[in-house]
Amino acid sequence: MTLTAAQTVAALATIAGSDNVVGDPAKMGAWLYEPRKRFHQSAAAVVTPPTVEAVQAVLRWANENGTGIIAQGGNTGLVGAQVPLSGNEVILSLARLDRIRSIDTAAGVMTAEAGVILENAHKAAEAEGSMFPLWLASQGSARIGGVLSSNAGGVNVLAYGNARELTMGVEAVLADGRLYRGLNALKKDNTGYDLKDLLVGAEGTLGIITAASLKIYPLPEDYETALVNIASPEAALELFQLMRQRAGARLNAFELIPWIGLDIQMRHGMLDRDPTASASPWYALIELSRMAGTAPGALQSSLEAAFDAALISDATIAESLADRTRMWAFREQMSECQSREGASIKHDVSVPIAAVPALIGQGVTAAETLVPGIRPVPFGHMGDGNIHFNFSMPVGADPKAFMAEFDEAVHAVIYDVVLKLGGSVSAEHGIGQLKVDLLRQVKDPVALDMMRAIKTALDPKGILNPGKMLRSVP
Ligand SMILES: Cc1cc2nc3c(=O)[nH]c(=O)nc-3n(C[C@H](O)[C@H](O)[C@H](O)COP(=O)(O)OP(=O)(O)OC[C@H]3O[C@@H](n4cnc5c(N)ncnc54)[C@H](O)[C@@H]3O)c2cc1C
Repeated sequence: MTLTAAQTVAALATIAGSDNVVGDPAKMGAWLYEPRKRFHQSAAAVVTPPTVEAVQAVLRWANENGTGIIAQGGNTGLVGAQVPLSGNEVILSLARLDRIRSIDTAAGVMTAEAGVILENAHKAAEAEGSMFPLWLASQGSARIGGVLSSNAGGVNVLAYGNARELTMGVEAVLADGRLYRGLNALKKDNTGYDLKDLLVGAEGTLGIITAASLKIYPLPEDYETALVNIASPEAALELFQLMRQRAGARLNAFELIPWIGLDIQMRHGMLDRDPTASASPWYALIELSRMAGTAPGALQSSLEAAFDAALISDATIAESLADRTRMWAFREQMSECQSREGASIKHDVSVPIAAVPALIGQGVTAAETLVPGIRPVPFGHMGDGNIHFNFSMPVGADPKAFMAEFDEAVHAVIYDVVLKLGGSVSAEHGIGQLKVDLLRQVKDPVALDMMRAIKTALDPKGILNPGKMLRSVP
């Protein structure tokens, strides 16, 4: 029997306390609308349990009643995974579990609860002379549980890896309310399946993460940052290889940005001044970290070598924190700036790094053939082979007509190029509700069967984030 919303609210108030339940639809907006406002649906209730035990009690109740539970962190996910699908689900916000439980700098481990805001995790690590290196534009709102559950990447993946690589262990509540006590600080643990790796990146479909032990690193003394003019993605690839050879693990970031990004941001007053040395078809934002006791200048000498090899034509090196901040703002505003130019069609894709130039070349040709005047804006984590392959509508086009006519067709040609190059149709943002059908079309059928079997074993009643990632759940 499906419970009414009023029955759900009453039951949750008994379990978690009435102050921790929102049942009035007019007060649920902050939990229901995701950043791009593409997906919207009501919820039966929002519950914000104050303790791990309360999370367990909510799950036990939901499992008995067959109520869908959607875990939510900062609600910044970009694929609609954290918002309701049917309207009968309960949103379980982890926001109140926001303690840093411990920091052990000698062991390089920080244990944080799921509701800790990413930026606060950064600050906590920095206060102890360490760094938690997962940096995203949404870090002021995104929370540890959400970041892990979407296996987020960001700008430091090159040097430190994505969320999965930065997680040593998790504590999680299973669908039936049992607690998996998987927090550990072991670099080596060969005692069977890696359950942590199942829960990280599961988008709340296998369990509710309540805390995680995370890798922290010595804080670099300084950063060397530059914006470099390059002629083409092919030159960017060569430059990337040169930088890796010279800087090794100190190469933190290698981000590719096309000229149109600068043009849009300058025209719309998004930058107080041009952060680049001069006009160029492409820019690379390159950052090296410098540890205590090492001499500065590694970036400068590498760029001189690149200049001598005719890989770059010009560059500007940040001379102050303000310069560095402006360079990063230029990069971080790339996604947002497109909204100032009307509608855009977006793809979060990855290919082997060596195939990035082919991805951009073939993808641009395919889209321009389909839609004359379409404006390609491919940018992102070149060093990870992860390009946010976006397209702005032609100048003067009608946004609605552009999306209605070309959204699906452009997706089809871009995903075709990506798959032919051995790539992935979701590099960072996940599946959620946005890419459920696409996943079914492109994922290896054996892999899909294994995923369904795991889902059925851990969540036999299908209460955890129902309908997301894998739709055909019993
Ligand atoms: C401006 C902007 C920039 C971004 N940049 C990047 C980027 O560079 N790289 C990148 O990878 N991503 C990026 N993202 C998306 C990124 O995935 C999210 O910002 C972040 O990782 C999600 O954290 P959140 O707390 O907001 O999770 P939510 O959006 O609340 O949830 C995301 C998913 O995790 C699940 N979930 C949340 N908490 C838990 C939990 N405790 N247990 C189990 N499941 C849970 C939800 O059900 C949902 O499936 C960006 C987003 C924005 C808005």
